[in-house]
Amino acid sequence: MAAPDLEDLVRLCKQRGFVFPSAEIYGGFRSTYDYGPLGVLMLRNVKDAWWRSMVQLRHDVVGLDAAILSSPRIWEASGHLANFTDPLVDCRNCKERWRADHLEAGPDGRLRCPNCASSDLTEAREFNLMFRTHAGPVDDDSTVAYLRPETAQGQFVNFANVMQTSRKRPPFGIAQIGKSFRNEITPGGFVFRTREFEQMELEFFVPPPDAERWFEHWCAERLAWYVGLGIPSEMLRLRPHDKEELAHYALAATDVEMRFPWGWGELEGIANRGDFDLRAHSEASGTRLDYFDQASGERYTPYVIEPAAGATRATMAFLLAAWDSDEVGGEPRSVLRLDPRIAPYQVAVLPLSRKDTLAPVAAEVLGVLQERFMCDFDETQSIGRRYRRQDEIGTPLCVTVDFDSIEDRAVTIRDRDSTEQVRVPIAALVAEVGDRLAR
Ligand code: ATP
Repeated sequence: MAAPDLEDLVRLCKQRGFVFPSAEIYGGFRSTYDYGPLGVLMLRNVKDAWWRSMVQLRHDVVGLDAAILSSPRIWEASGHLANFTDPLVDCRNCKERWRADHLEAGPDGRLRCPNCASSDLTEAREFNLMFRTHAGPVDDDSTVAYLRPETAQGQFVNFANVMQTSRKRPPFGIAQIGKSFRNEITPGGFVFRTREFEQMELEFFVPPPDAERWFEHWCAERLAWYVGLGIPSEMLRLRPHDKEELAHYALAATDVEMRFPWGWGELEGIANRGDFDLRAHSEASGTRLDYFDQASGERYTPYVIEPAAGATRATMAFLLAAWDSDEVGGEPRSVLRLDPRIAPYQVAVLPLSRKDTLAPVAAEVLGVLQERFMCDFDETQSIGRRYRRQDEIGTPLCVTVDFDSIEDRAVTIRDRDSTEQVRVPIAALVAEVGDRLAR
């Protein structure tokens, strides 16, 4: 199956209600997007899958939900005010602005404008990506605040609070999912790069001598997470950063990259941040952010291993990887082979007819399934078209209620991938659906 191009994905997302351009009735707004009825379900499932693997299934990670607006002193100490910049160039010919490190050189070796191909570009100047605002009714320097450009600082400034209250000791981690904001010079690639997006970040605090081992551990774990949720391993790779590429806080970094329609792109960054953040906040705030190991009698500042993923970017990645088409009964079919854990709906309940006689048993079936699974309910159009629609949005199982169901108290389960159908008693339905989704 040929990989979908970006337009195919954008079209499906719009037509089926995954992702809409934000403020579309006003002509859209600067590469911002709204998640529709299916998108919000899937995005939530992606975040839940991350939380389950990073928090629920571990004994050494706890959660946090920190404020988006917080003290500007955080960004001063973290180095973001000085260093969270991208190199900006203007094209003197067409006046477009670009990120210099994303441009390609022409045959003369000079960078070229992707819009008009001119190489008449200004010198690069550093452009800070943080959104500035004012917290409070006064619009002066005393109220300046920033929208967070990453969630991670919430973990660092709460390090002592969390360690004391959760009774965790290094090695342990603090996980957080939430919105981040970056005034990207060139957003694009649909929801790949937007100015408002969602991140899923773990800050894992370790004794410094163990940092390298944990770094390797998290690189392997994070790659396996994407594979486990359905991205074929040949579409993924780990790419270690060169020394020159490292962020101002990082000792080492490796990206999990995926083959996107335009080439390899970052899905997640795993960094060894050393003791940079805890030390910086400790010095700037005067609050001790270290750990006293009673066993060895040693006091030390833990190193931080950070797997930083994008929830919105990952959702797009899962959609691209699930994209497929085949033939059913001689007819072409589009199908999203999404893992049941991240598909918007796990089950669609489809009464064969809208006749009143079917309504009570259809409502009963929907009722028992809804308690356990996210269900769609659709009683219009032919059953074949309804199956196609569910295939196209990735619903793993359809449950058809027909006139025999009234007498035999059984329904038909139809599998998205094999299109196989089996008859199952309503009394055994929840268990059977649960088993099939877990396969
Ligand atoms: P880039 O170099 O591409 O700008 P980055 O290396 O600065 O990205 P990180 O700071 O490592 O990105 O962010 C961690 C993760 O957050 C990324 O791997 C990505 O999944 C997500 N992310 C970062 N910026 C954006 C954005 N503008 N839109 C959507 N997701 C983003």
